[in-house]
Amino acid sequence: MSQQKPPDDPEVQSALDPTVEHLREDDPNVARDPVCGGLVDKRTAENFIPASVDGSVGPFYFNSPECKAIFEEDPAKYGANY
Ligand SMILES: [Zn+2]
Repeated sequence: MSQQKPPDDPEVQSALDPTVEHLREDDPNVARDPVCGGLVDKRTAENFIPASVDGSVGPFYFNSPECKAIFEEDPAKYGANY
């Protein structure tokens, strides 16, 4: 008896397809974009703002330069009191 899932199982399909979003919020390498609420992989994020010097604010990660620009226009709106 085989315990393997059949190849048409959707879980198996998404695990094999690198284009499928598979980030999980409980992953320590994943952050939530404060602007759009999307999940961002910290290891590959190109759009982020490092933590403040004293470490009290941030860092913030964004999944697009647009989100970062929106954040920078009004950081206080997202709880960042620089
Ligand atoms: Zn975003």
